Amino acid sequence: MHRRDFAKLSALALAATRLPAQSAEPKAKPIGFAAVGLGTISGIFSQGLLKADDAKLTAVVTGHPDTKGKAYTAQYDLAPGSVYTYDTYNTLRDNPAVDAVYIGLPNSMHMEYTVRAAEAGKHVLCEKPMAISSAECRRMIDACHAHKVHLMIAYRLWYDPTVARALELVKSGAIGQVQSFAGAFIGQQPTGAWRLNKALAGGGSIFDLGIYPLNAIRYIIGEDPSAYTAVVSTREKGPRFAEVEESVEWTMKFPSGIIASCRSSYGADGESRLEINGSRGFLVIAPAYGYDGMKLTGRIADDIIDYTATGRIPFQFTLEADHFADCIRKNKTPKTPGELGLADLESIEAIYKAAGAPLA
Ligand code: NAD
Repeated sequence: MHRRDFAKLSALALAATRLPAQSAEPKAKPIGFAAVGLGTISGIFSQGLLKADDAKLTAVVTGHPDTKGKAYTAQYDLAPGSVYTYDTYNTLRDNPAVDAVYIGLPNSMHMEYTVRAAEAGKHVLCEKPMAISSAECRRMIDACHAHKVHLMIAYRLWYDPTVARALELVKSGAIGQVQSFAGAFIGQQPTGAWRLNKALAGGGSIFDLGIYPLNAIRYIIGEDPSAYTAVVSTREKGPRFAEVEESVEWTMKFPSGIIASCRSSYGADGESRLEINGSRGFLVIAPAYGYDGMKLTGRIADDIIDYTATGRIPFQFTLEADHFADCIRKNKTPKTPGELGLADLESIEAIYKAAGAPLA
């Protein structure tokens, strides 16, 4: 494929992902979201809602109603009575302006706040990782099913045109038969962060960072791994990694024979990266898991691939919110449903088991 054709196709792919949600009915009001837990990611998601076609922030749930609640009310022009606490969360059921909740809480709280939202009749868009165990994921799926609400996991990369472009090149056979993947997401967490607290995080960096290559590879291949090898290790002694390991490296074999080799760490700096090797060429996404600026390079036969999406933060979140709004309106299963979050938790559990450090 020539570079010119590639650029044209890429522009088309980008335009396609930006099409407004097609509503079967005239839009009376946008789908209303309550953001639950007003930390970093809820802030970015709320910014994404400002640009959405069919979704809007209509309430917040916070342990700090007098500070964060007031600030969100002013910034997002929330109606009076739209600030809830974790204690009054269940009364969301009486607020018709809230169709769905967006859960941006620490991992161990995802199950409780999903189940309570389902019981209140609200659809759920839950951050990754879906929960801290596959058993919790099943409870979340069952609760949403029982209360007839949709459950989507916020895997924002599925809405990024760079990843969509890589998927297209793999699925079209352009890089030939895929042989292997290599994925890495490495960063730092400070001593005392909730992500280093096992009860809140569920485990180490794979719950937060490693889940990105894990999920991206599953998305691109469309298969579930059938075998795993893994090691976990903590080089730094001291309080920072008292509860969770510092680093994990693992391999996955898929039924087709494809091999993936991945790693994540909370104790180092490094490039976030996803490499796909095929019999006719290769693709590299680096940086691979950012909110914007993802870059796809590679070579297919004699053609150089070089593509950077033009979307800027918080565009992935806007596309994600509009997708969920569309699913709610049309009663469609989301592209990233609870079952996908469950599959990733099953893989995480298998990885810890393969490392000889099974999760309790
Ligand atoms: P954060 O620490 O910035 O925010 C967490 C929020 O939960 C805060 O408002 C905090 O007050 C509240 N909270 C309630 N009870 C708490 C408790 N017991 N301990 C700590 N905080 C408590 O975290 P974050 O980075 O926004 O992450 C929240 C969730 O979003 C996590 O599940 C994380 O994996 C996910 N996340 C997803 C992305 C993404 O790109 N999709 C990026 C970052 C985080």
